Amino acid sequence: MSRSLEILKEVFGYPAFRGQQGDIVDHVAAGGDSLVLMPTGGGKSLCYQIPALLRREAGFGAGIVVSPLIALMQDQVAALSEVGVRAACLNSTLTGAEASATERALRNGEIDLLYVAPERLMTPRFLELIESVRIGLFAIDEAHCVSQWGHDFRPEYIQLSVLHERFPSVPRIALTATADAITRDEIVHRLALDNARIFVSSFDRPNIRYRIVEKDNARAQLLDFIRAEHTNPDKTTDAGVIYCLSRRKVEETADWLKGQGVRALPYHAGMEYETRQRHQEMFKREEGIVMCATIAFGMGIDKPDVRFVAHLDLPKSVEGYYQETGRAGRDGMPANAWMAYGLGDVVQQRKMIDESDADDTHKRMQGGKLDALLGLCEAASCRRVRLLGYFGEASQPCGNCDTCLEPPESWDATREAQMALSCVYRAFKASGFHFGAGHLIDILRGSRSEKLLQRGHEKLSTFGLGAALSEQEWRAVFRQLVAFGYLAVDHDGFGALILTEASKAVLKGEQAVTLRKYVKPTRTRQSSSRTGERADPTAGMSPRVKARWERLRAWRASMAKSDGVPAYVIFHDATLAEIARNEPDSIEDLSQIPGIGARKLERFGSELLEVVGAN
Ligand code: ADP
Ligand code: ZN
Repeated sequence: MSRSLEILKEVFGYPAFRGQQGDIVDHVAAGGDSLVLMPTGGGKSLCYQIPALLRREAGFGAGIVVSPLIALMQDQVAALSEVGVRAACLNSTLTGAEASATERALRNGEIDLLYVAPERLMTPRFLELIESVRIGLFAIDEAHCVSQWGHDFRPEYIQLSVLHERFPSVPRIALTATADAITRDEIVHRLALDNARIFVSSFDRPNIRYRIVEKDNARAQLLDFIRAEHTNPDKTTDAGVIYCLSRRKVEETADWLKGQGVRALPYHAGMEYETRQRHQEMFKREEGIVMCATIAFGMGIDKPDVRFVAHLDLPKSVEGYYQETGRAGRDGMPANAWMAYGLGDVVQQRKMIDESDADDTHKRMQGGKLDALLGLCEAASCRRVRLLGYFGEASQPCGNCDTCLEPPESWDATREAQMALSCVYRAFKASGFHFGAGHLIDILRGSRSEKLLQRGHEKLSTFGLGAALSEQEWRAVFRQLVAFGYLAVDHDGFGALILTEASKAVLKGEQAVTLRKYVKPTRTRQSSSRTGERADPTAGMSPRVKARWERLRAWRASMAKSDGVPAYVIFHDATLAEIARNEPDSIEDLSQIPGIGARKLERFGSELLEVVGAN
């Protein structure tokens, strides 16, 4: 057995490398530079942790890990300490005395892995220190932070190219979950990784089930989803994140969910720092918390057992959607990505682009990104194929997204599209104004609303022409016409719809329009019959196994409490579930279970056997 595999087994308790991990470890341990592109939850950490340990054994000093996220650093250090690796961090939260103690330990060769914030790393004092200890490697985590175009840009990251000049013989490994080619090139360029080997993993997250539903009454739909798929018999829920666009909506949604008996907490950048931190800690440490948040929440949360991510508002891009949904199911167990989406979202996003103070080039780029996301929302074929295709990866229909599980029906909507477009045209002709979908639908359905009568729109030739379709059906038509570019949102900020270049061909009958059929969301459709089993680690457990699992969880909670770490740092659900199922009755049996390394076996082994055996 190779030494790297031995370490994987002994220290981390895993029987095999995942995907390219083994190759990456060997390459870095042998002193090569590398750039690792792997999705969230793919297992990036081991790619530098094991080489750092290997190089320690070969006589080098500690591995230095550059990370922009203090909370994440602390979690990593806690998790490494639990498996017996000597890890520490240096960041602004330490007192001077603590920092000095860590520096001393580094100098004395008592540290295997040191996590540092980039601004700390770049101080002349620190650079001198690490020069004197022959460090083993540099790992640059969240390497996309060097990209000025991305929203995680950190100016200090730019300076990291200095490492190459100052420490030419120290291998560097840059890691990111941001997949696009532009960011990749920028990382190579800015970090001077020209000779690095690039490891690109598949970005698929097979355990995540993607679903995008038509927004009807978003809150009620959300609650149905949580109740049907993420609520336990004792009424507690799974851990989940709900993304909303505005701070206000975050607060309102959290309040409302609380009123419905869900343990929901708000999180956004406008809250007081202490409260925000407290909520984040609760989410990490306690079970069953649903975080309602803006996108300010998420970077730096590596909680592995988030069972669902829900979007109540449309993200800005496919990248954003993928990053946010990627926070579900890092532990590889079934998880849900659920989004409710409607015409209002399209209007709102277009409006935000229009009203931003970005220049035209930037606005066009944002518009293009939104279009790609709308294409995903309206897709009639596999969502995963589309998602991965967006990142340049070919794949086959997945069988684990809504369009695969329940293929939507398409219909020839050419005539209805013509009605809608000519309604836009005629209403404008008659009054000199453009109107939003609500008013246009009133005209088409022949409803004599006050506003309509005031404007005399009951006299338009399109009045009542589309009475055969319900209001929701028309909304779905308008939404898709906007999504596909046959209609655009006016720049007036009121969501008025206007014709586009592409409208003409439809109006002239030169272009057929095929749309997704509107499906009325009903409770039964959203319940388990639609989605198969719940994302539940206890699925299929017999009552005896389940009782063991409950005892193990209680034991884990008390360990976590006494060590002051989140429960998942002690053992993941998957590991506990394996123990409960396998009923090990010896240390030897226990050591075969994935996720139990030598140190945890030694520390917890006999207690675990007691807990398992206490029937
Ligand atoms: P990333 O940083 O890429 O998001 P992590 O390094 O946090 O991912 O790993 C995600 C999860 O997968 C962790 O819980 C980790 O313990 C687990 N993991 C990583 N590599 C393996 C492996 N070879 N076998 C089993 N589990 C693994
Ligand atoms: Zn699919």
